[in-house]
Amino acid sequence: MIREEKIQIPFVYAAGQAGSRFLVALRDDGRIMGSACAACGHVSVPTRSFCPACSESDLSDVELAGEGNLVSWTEIPGRGVFALINLDGADGALLHRLIDSPDKLAVGQRVRAQFAETRKAHISDLAGFVVTGAGP
Ligand SMILES: [Zn+2]
Repeated sequence: MIREEKIQIPFVYAAGQAGSRFLVALRDDGRIMGSACAACGHVSVPTRSFCPACSESDLSDVELAGEGNLVSWTEIPGRGVFALINLDGADGALLHRLIDSPDKLAVGQRVRAQFAETRKAHISDLAGFVVTGAGP
C-alpha cells in the first residue's frame, strides 16, 4: 500500500557571513553585492566566502549594477516568471523573478532591479526585475 501526502518541513538556517553581507546591503542600502576573486577575477553574486570558479577564499565585496541581461526564464503558473539574470559586472547569473514581464521575452533583454519598499534583510528585499529594453 502506498500512501501519498505532502509534508511541510519549515526550517531556518544561518545566512553565514557572506550571505549576511548580501542581505544587509539589500535591506540597508538597496545595493546588490557580489564577491570578486583576487586569484582569478571571477565576480559572483550573491556574495560568497569562496570563489565558485577556483575555490580561493581571497574575495572582496563589490557593488554590482542593478541592471543586466536576461539569460533564461521559465513561467510557473500562478507564481510568475522566474529568470536567470546576468548582472552587469558579474560572471554567472542570479535567479530571481520578473515583474510585469512582457508576453515575449528574449535572451539578452535588458532588465533592472526593483527593490521592495519595506525591506527586512531577505531576498524578497529585491522585489524582482523589470524588463527595460529589447533583446539584441
Ligand atoms: Zn577565483
